[in-house]
Amino acid sequence: MLCTLTFAQDTKVWNNKQCAVVLTYDDAIDINLDNVIPALDSLKLKATFYLIGSSPVINKRLSEWRKVALNGHELGNHSLFHPCDGSLPGRSFVGPENDLSKYTITRAVNEIRLNNTLLNAIDGKTIRTFAYPCGDLKIGGVNFYTALQKDFAGARGVSSGLQNAAQVDLDNINCYSINGQSAEYMIALVKKAQQSHTLLVFLFHGVGGGHSLNVGLSEHSKLIHYLKEHEKEIWIAPMVDVAQNIKTVQSSVTH
Ligand SMILES: [Zn+2]
Repeated sequence: MLCTLTFAQDTKVWNNKQCAVVLTYDDAIDINLDNVIPALDSLKLKATFYLIGSSPVINKRLSEWRKVALNGHELGNHSLFHPCDGSLPGRSFVGPENDLSKYTITRAVNEIRLNNTLLNAIDGKTIRTFAYPCGDLKIGGVNFYTALQKDFAGARGVSSGLQNAAQVDLDNINCYSINGQSAEYMIALVKKAQQSHTLLVFLFHGVGGGHSLNVGLSEHSKLIHYLKEHEKEIWIAPMVDVAQNIKTVQSSVTH
């Protein structure tokens, strides 16, 4: 009986389909507009683009981002300057001006809110999701997103895993970071999500180039064609829509 209930609840939260798949693309790079949007739009699939407000690709191609949003994709918040914790190992790429470990919580919160203002000026939307730059959650041991919970429908982290609606932590949503993996690997993950009625989030940077973290254009194409072919069973939606459904289900559960 419990299984039946869980199943019913999970398919309802996934728009009455077996599972949800969210495609997310980080860092506001040219390749999003040049390769990803045409590929997604040719199949009428909607995704989330986590934008860095200070990226020159926002300034240069602002009207294109506006069209992306008008077309049903989410412009997510990936902060204003993409600060990462430079005190962690392997972070020699972090300059002193963008070192999250040197930030105060207030500065991080204010910059992220300012990026929301910028995104609102582009798309007119007041609800969206956040993605942690470099997956860094804390400043001096304190989680800065706590002060931002009311500003967002949810926040994507970088830990991997498939979760049902009850398991998802909306303050740190799991995802699978893709860098060089094959279409077979990605489609196998989708099949696992279908079988387990869970949420699967992909995190992409470059698609057919444009970033040091990359996935081949044809591999990405095979994945999205698989999703399109199984659209009746898989809810493919921007993160903001999926997060809002999860929030509704989680808040309706009485303990
Ligand atoms: Zn990033």
